Amino acid sequence: MLLGVHVSISGSIDNAVDRAVKLGCTTFQIFTRNPRGWTYKKLGKKEVDNFREKCKEHGYEVAMAHMPYLPNIASPKKLIYNKSVKSLITELERSGALGLKYLVCHVGSHLGAGIDAGIQKVAEACNTALSKIDNDTILLLENMAGQRNSCGSSFEDLRRILDKIEYPDRVGICLDTCHLFAAGYDIRSPESVEKTLEEFDNIVGLKRLYAVHLNDSKGSLKSGLDRHEHIGQGEIGEKGFQAFINHKAVRDKPMILETPEDKRGNFETNLKKVRSLYK
Ligand code: ZN
Ligand code: MN
Ligand code: MN
Repeated sequence: MLLGVHVSISGSIDNAVDRAVKLGCTTFQIFTRNPRGWTYKKLGKKEVDNFREKCKEHGYEVAMAHMPYLPNIASPKKLIYNKSVKSLITELERSGALGLKYLVCHVGSHLGAGIDAGIQKVAEACNTALSKIDNDTILLLENMAGQRNSCGSSFEDLRRILDKIEYPDRVGICLDTCHLFAAGYDIRSPESVEKTLEEFDNIVGLKRLYAVHLNDSKGSLKSGLDRHEHIGQGEIGEKGFQAFINHKAVRDKPMILETPEDKRGNFETNLKKVRSLYK
């Protein structure tokens, strides 16, 4: 089972690998820099070497980066859009340098400009970044939670974006379970998981699914809320996760937890829960 969590790079980027090892992860996700700003420090050769060496030592062949929080590649605002495309280019380059297989990027928000405009922006952003950086990192677009003005909350949106991508082999999808559920796709039972993944297959195609984010949802079905909850303690529940992670379309994919860390649980407890549900 390829299962891991989003680990911190605090101290030095290669510390992330140690943290993943300590938790018993077989894959992991990182931010390549502080996700809360636009600025970043260039990666040094030493830290890249250390990171790659540790990944090799511990057999991490599949690991991924997540884009920082501020970029919005669907934005109609020129300044933000340009900065976001720059970030995408930079993160694609950094992910490749670190030997990461995937870079996960939220599709984004059109901020009221309309879904057609948003989809066009997202596709252009991806095409620009992929034309500037040629490496082995595959860009994964993450489904959104159905927030107002969001792009890519529906399978139809994702399909329309993928249709405009000029580098189909270098772009895929990362499905976040919390976002799926909040956007209105039920996954609380074996039957609803089957139906949702069948719909994904019909509209997007399961061969475009490369990774999943496992998060339970604080919000109810179609709430449009991006609020992650401990596995089994949210509105999706254990039965839903058991069906989802064991489904043939998902069971071999890298699965990343982005669950909270609080009094009711942490990565350790959530990893344990997911492992216990995997058959
Ligand atoms: Zn995400
Ligand atoms: Mn996610
Ligand atoms: Mn989320």
